[in-house]
Amino acid sequence: MPIPTEPVGSLPRPMKLQTAIAEYDAGKITKEDLKVEQDAACADSIKRMEATGSPINSDGEQRASSFATYPLADTLAGTGLADNLAGDGQYFAIFTDGHHRQLPRLTGGPFKYKTYAADYLKEAMPLAHKPLKQAVIAPSMLYLLYPLDGEIEGYTREQFAEDLVNECEKDIRKCFETGAKRVSIDFTEGRLACRNDPNNPWTGRGMLEQFIDLNNRVLARFSPEERVNIGIHTCPGGDCDSTHSADVDYAELLPSMFKMNAGYFLIQLASEPDKESVYKLLGEHSREDADGVKQVCFIGVINPQSPTIETPEQVRDDLVLASKYIPVERLGSTDDCGFSPFSIDVKPKHGSPDFARDVAFQKIEARVKGTQMASEELGVA
Ligand SMILES: [Zn+2]
Repeated sequence: MPIPTEPVGSLPRPMKLQTAIAEYDAGKITKEDLKVEQDAACADSIKRMEATGSPINSDGEQRASSFATYPLADTLAGTGLADNLAGDGQYFAIFTDGHHRQLPRLTGGPFKYKTYAADYLKEAMPLAHKPLKQAVIAPSMLYLLYPLDGEIEGYTREQFAEDLVNECEKDIRKCFETGAKRVSIDFTEGRLACRNDPNNPWTGRGMLEQFIDLNNRVLARFSPEERVNIGIHTCPGGDCDSTHSADVDYAELLPSMFKMNAGYFLIQLASEPDKESVYKLLGEHSREDADGVKQVCFIGVINPQSPTIETPEQVRDDLVLASKYIPVERLGSTDDCGFSPFSIDVKPKHGSPDFARDVAFQKIEARVKGTQMASEELGVA
């Protein structure tokens, strides 16, 4: 079997769509007007991603407020916030360029998603000629909606956790029912949990093992056959061409991360300073048998934060080197992260989101070609 290749999910939103979102937040256009732009951006995303030769694609998450907040609010500014939430929650991340992203705060129970990822997928399916994947948010990220200290009156932390696990399971199941071939769970908070940032209190609470246990509660609801197609994505964040936890040594995260009983992992690696040592860690800690599934390691071979387009030869060489440490039947390739996990992102290093979009498709094409070349070189084409 050739080496599989898969995107994380998002693409930069066209400037026209970002402008429409701002106008919707300002009350200048209607939800229907906004949807016209979202529809156009999704159709363009699928068409152009398919044109790269990519065997599995997404709608570029063009309708989502962000990879983390899509179940909770219509826009990143918080328009259309779900029930029992207020806008002033925790910073889930403070990025190295100084900007931050904030979660809503839970004010009471029960906790319910307002939008499921499958609501977007449903609109994308008729536009696709090849299989689609869907990214969903990890329960561990949404766990941060509950105040860090104390308890919400009438809604215990454990009641919330149970509702959260139920909603995450439903989010994943609905994706498969709607026709997703693969579902990956965004777990950017995993690496950040290893960082102790005094400006961001939750990061200093040693929450990683709690996150792993919570995510495993969701995974345990799926059979091994289902979990073959359920992945986990890890990265040091990616927003406005900046990261939040790239300085955290992978050695702190990976032994715990592979305790999650997922069938595959999408792992940021192209932008790591010492890739080979990480390949080695992946070989050591990924498991042949994770409660009935083998864990396939999709290594990042494309850096979405850099405007420089990787060559297929670079992609091939990364995979060939990784195969020294990871059995080729458990090796895949991916992008380091979504190309724009948050809807509002002008991609400063690229100069504009429209240019970053063009670059993204060229990068995906290089990933697909280079992965094919590696398959040939390793005798699995
Ligand atoms: Zn990511």
